[in-house]
Amino acid sequence: MMVTNELKEKVADYHYTRLTSKEMQTAMKVHTHVRRYLGDYLFKEGFVEIPPVILSPLTDPLNHPTLDPVLTCYGHKYQLTKSMIFHKQLALLSQEKIFCFSPNLRFECEDKAESGCHLFEFTQLDLELKDAPRDVSMDLMERMYVGLMQYCKEALSEELGFFGREIKVPSKPFKRVSYTQAKEEHGPDFEEVLSKEATEPFWIVDIPLLDREFYDREDPEQEGILRDMDLIYPEGFGEASSGGEREFEYDRIVERIHKKEQDTKDFSILLEMASKGLSPSSGFGIGVERLVRYICGFERIEDAALFPKVPGKLCI
Ligand code: ATP
Ligand code: ASP
Ligand code: MG
Repeated sequence: MMVTNELKEKVADYHYTRLTSKEMQTAMKVHTHVRRYLGDYLFKEGFVEIPPVILSPLTDPLNHPTLDPVLTCYGHKYQLTKSMIFHKQLALLSQEKIFCFSPNLRFECEDKAESGCHLFEFTQLDLELKDAPRDVSMDLMERMYVGLMQYCKEALSEELGFFGREIKVPSKPFKRVSYTQAKEEHGPDFEEVLSKEATEPFWIVDIPLLDREFYDREDPEQEGILRDMDLIYPEGFGEASSGGEREFEYDRIVERIHKKEQDTKDFSILLEMASKGLSPSSGFGIGVERLVRYICGFERIEDAALFPKVPGKLCI
């Protein structure tokens, strides 16, 4: 698309108006409190914060198509980080529990601009725990989520009042719904249907192998089913987080790459390191802008980001 002066002026006007608004000022206050609360929570739990990785030959293959620019630097090919999934696993060679506020670049298809929950640059609070089965990660998420909602209700009552938002503190444990059963009962849009019906967050668990990336671990007790989980917001806000146990053994990773019909060459550095030995682990990633959107009750994710990157649009 041609970037005309008229378009640049329109973009500048749009950003000037929103950056000077009370809405943006208030949303960023919520954003600050959310990041601070979550970072402090994990610090108190003994997590080490690792710095984000922006460029690497190794990144998340994802389970849906995106446009993938490749940068050639010093004669080597680098990708922009779509998620730090592999760096999380590798960081556990050095640490027991890690987290990162990780900028992700996913050049999503333009139709996702309409979803209200997709940006092409966003931040994940991404974490991983060594030797932890799925339940440990789920319990951590539930405690942190409940704590955050309680905190927001108390510390941000004025800001939430400004947005006319009332949030509910959910009770633990969150409900667990089987992916296959939910799909049978509600059809292909089951996630949307269940999210709209729900008044509390809930888990979707046990996702079939080909419906997710190769790195989530196949359940040793249920062939073809992964030991993973998505957290879904209530009130129709959709997916909050994805996570799971990971494949960590060289042979298993190779088998899973083949099952997804992907190329082991694209993951050769990961495989080389897996052949030296990785640890079992689990973890999850939660999108920060979607979380702020949910807390503030925004229709659209753009309202939760200072410089929103909307798929297909010229953004600053
Ligand atoms: P969805 O299916 O909702 O598009 P996804 O399953 O592709 O999301 P994951 O790969 O699971 O996304 O990423 C982990 C988390 O990062 C998501 O649960 C969500 O909170 C956030 N996230 C993913 N993609 C985006 C995006 N394009 N914009 C904003 N947040 C995102
Ligand atoms: N798979 C998630 C992601 O896409 C994160 C996770 O599983 O921890 O980023
Ligand atoms: Mg997901």
